[in-house]
Amino acid sequence: MEMRAQEQLDHYHRYFICHGCWARIDIPLPIPLQTLPTQIPWPAGATEQNFLCFVCRQAMAYGREEFLANLNPSTSDSDICDSAAVFQFSLPCGIDNCAGLVEIHAVMSKDSSIADAVGFATKISAVAITCNRGIHTHSGPCVSASSVGFALDKEWTAA
Ligand SMILES: [Zn+2]
Ligand SMILES: [Zn+2]
Ligand SMILES: [Zn+2]
Repeated sequence: MEMRAQEQLDHYHRYFICHGCWARIDIPLPIPLQTLPTQIPWPAGATEQNFLCFVCRQAMAYGREEFLANLNPSTSDSDICDSAAVFQFSLPCGIDNCAGLVEIHAVMSKDSSIADAVGFATKISAVAITCNRGIHTHSGPCVSASSVGFALDKEWTAA
């Protein structure tokens, strides 16, 4: 008798639902099956995190509560954790000479380079995103291609 290979439930993912187009923004952070909600990783001290939706290219703020509400089981086969990671764009605020940054997270292929980031950054449309000094709000295109910071985000990366 032939047994069909069972896909093994391996871990969970959290995700956001884009506030603009309702596409799913899957977060490639493997969360072990036994993890309690209180143990779900979330950057310390942050009430909101800005994420980019690659479908509508809008960047918006998302809260921890909605992160915790969305749970998706994953199997170890061809999982986004293998191919993608959370990166952070850092863009100068510049309003009234503010030296703060506009920080936007984006789920991108693990091998993404700064060249990929610069190419994409000018297509990002911010929707009421606050700079990291909490003073200025950005809406619309917020990037000049010459000043894009881009790095893997360690707070959103599994240890
Ligand atoms: Zn969207
Ligand atoms: Zn995964
Ligand atoms: Zn600012």
